[in-house]
Amino acid sequence: MDLEKAGADRIHWDVMDGVFVPNITVGPDVVKSIRSHLSIHFEAHLMVMKVDEIAPLYIEAGCQTVMVHAEACTHLHRSLDNIQKLGARSGVVLNPHTPASTIQHVLEVTDHILVMTVNPGFGGQKYIPLLDKIAELKAMVDASGNEIDIEIDGGISATTIGECAGAGANVFVSGSALFKYDDKAAGVAELKSLAEAARS
Ligand code: ZN
Repeated sequence: MDLEKAGADRIHWDVMDGVFVPNITVGPDVVKSIRSHLSIHFEAHLMVMKVDEIAPLYIEAGCQTVMVHAEACTHLHRSLDNIQKLGARSGVVLNPHTPASTIQHVLEVTDHILVMTVNPGFGGQKYIPLLDKIAELKAMVDASGNEIDIEIDGGISATTIGECAGAGANVFVSGSALFKYDDKAAGVAELKSLAEAARS
């Protein structure tokens, strides 16, 4: 696939159940059918309510990282622990309004944090700057001593990636912005170099 050749490090699957968010998107069978053609890291961003029933389907479909929304989980610690026990990396997602402190007590079962810089459910939305929150999460992760990635999802482009990287993020979802580049490899390279420059 083009994105793998273009130098992207992972593919981010937005999974929507029509309840947590209005849209319905990509089922595990589709992910599984594409999995066999690519070696790139797959991550599933589950915008769903029935997390504990749905997460195993995407692990079975070949996603190495599975992320669940803090807002959708009554028993967040258990849901993250279950994902790890099934052999995947666990990720927790925070909507723009959800404070960093929400996940302070689940870091021991967390491999990955996804910070939403738009309200989830649709592509191409306006970026919401949340640099204080990213910096707070980075400080929490550093204090925990665990290796936890911090990823940003929503409105990431050449104009926004640097400030997020500077605040402490190290993984970025690029949808609409990347698809505007005719040369995807040049697009990936530009975004990566802007992020790296801001982190150093
Ligand atoms: Zn996403």
